[in-house]
Amino acid sequence: MEKPAFNPFVMAQSQFDQAADILELDDATRSLLREPLREYHFSIPVRMDDGTRRVFRGFRVQHNDARGPGKGGIRFHPQETIDTVRALAMWMSWKCATVDIPLGGSKGGVICDPHNLSDHEQEQICRGYVRQLARDVGPLVDVPAPDVMTSAQHMLWMLDEFEVIRGERLPGFITGKPVGMGGSLGRTEATGFGVVFTIREALKALGKRPEDTLASVQGFGNVAQHAIQLYNQIGGTVICVSCWDQKESISYCYVKNDGIDLTQLRSITDRFGGIDKDKARDLGYDVQPGDAWLSQEADILIPAALEHQLTGENVDNIHERVVLVAEGANGPTTLEADRVLATRNIYMVPDLLANAGGVTCSYFEQVQSNGNYFWEKDDVLSRLDLKMTAAFQAVANMAKKRNLYMRDAAYCIAINRIAQASRDRGWV
Ligand code: NAD
Repeated sequence: MEKPAFNPFVMAQSQFDQAADILELDDATRSLLREPLREYHFSIPVRMDDGTRRVFRGFRVQHNDARGPGKGGIRFHPQETIDTVRALAMWMSWKCATVDIPLGGSKGGVICDPHNLSDHEQEQICRGYVRQLARDVGPLVDVPAPDVMTSAQHMLWMLDEFEVIRGERLPGFITGKPVGMGGSLGRTEATGFGVVFTIREALKALGKRPEDTLASVQGFGNVAQHAIQLYNQIGGTVICVSCWDQKESISYCYVKNDGIDLTQLRSITDRFGGIDKDKARDLGYDVQPGDAWLSQEADILIPAALEHQLTGENVDNIHERVVLVAEGANGPTTLEADRVLATRNIYMVPDLLANAGGVTCSYFEQVQSNGNYFWEKDDVLSRLDLKMTAAFQAVANMAKKRNLYMRDAAYCIAINRIAQASRDRGWV
């Protein structure tokens, strides 16, 4: 019998159920938080460059805004599904609450492939998306951001359309804007650096010095590259990175036991985070296909590519030296793999904590945009460090106090905060 396709919303709800059981949440709060508060499904008609008309499907899901306006990216993807958007909106709620920023959780998507669309066609999609939603988003309602296959340029088109409709300048409507057009310094580094702030704290808890540790990383895009940069700066050594080979449609791992050279690897990487295999071989990298990043003799694994990567099928390949997993990607570990990691006593820094640096910096961007005053990069990054470290300590303390797996502890903190805000508002 064929296996059912992976459904991220089913996984997100199961993770929620597990935490709701630990918290002994009442039925009304469960049914409020288990589903999105609101969903918008709409059509975006576009006149294509060749004069024909096409209609694209768009979504915006607002999972919960009890603690503040919704926050979450807009993805362009040919296989976008409403269940993926629902799961991501729910994870945004938990993430914002885990790092204790006054925002809720949202996510959006359009079923389209930007690779096959001209800039003009993409601009029409962005403007059409905002026209459909303008009444239901805004700086104090729901604040979008870039995500998979959307960029600062897409955000500017959306912002411009929103401001035309509203008839005023409202830069706090959207984040991920270019620096100089209301964007925040430090946003590019924020997610990867945030991952390493949490790794630094986890190593303290494990009684290990970063200088004595080796890491293996899945992915070599924005998150992975900045995580490697800061991990190297605090003394760690990365012995393997893996990335997707567009031409062959498989992943390869690039291994160097005395440590990869970030600058050198960046120089042979395309803008999608794909490494040139032949050039890497010439530079002395051992190139291995598939999941070899899991079985390297490393202390730390950093999945920073995409969801559903550590599964029941491959979790046993993890090398016995591994003591820590820090999830740069969203949803990289399945529930089955989680159970094995917990049994092996591997320290988990879950996605909603580890990669929350991105949304935290987006929140800083919103604060700067709304106040029309922009901070220096060092200021942004040190505020980020403070927020991430405080969030890590809160989760680690909860895990210790209640003898919980770190993911469950993070979920409990986040769900508690949102449940409390919902109760305070009289919703449940
Ligand atoms: P990116 O597109 O810049 O990089 C993705 C990398 O993953 C590329 O190197 C690609 O080759 C690699 N990859 C893709 N499929 C792979 C596979 N099967 N095996 C190995 N490598 C593979 O993306 P990013 O912005 O670095 O985001 C990575 C992850 O982090 C995503 O899950 C994203 O949702 C999550 N995330 C990103 C941010 C952010 O600020 N960029 C914030 C929070 C979470």
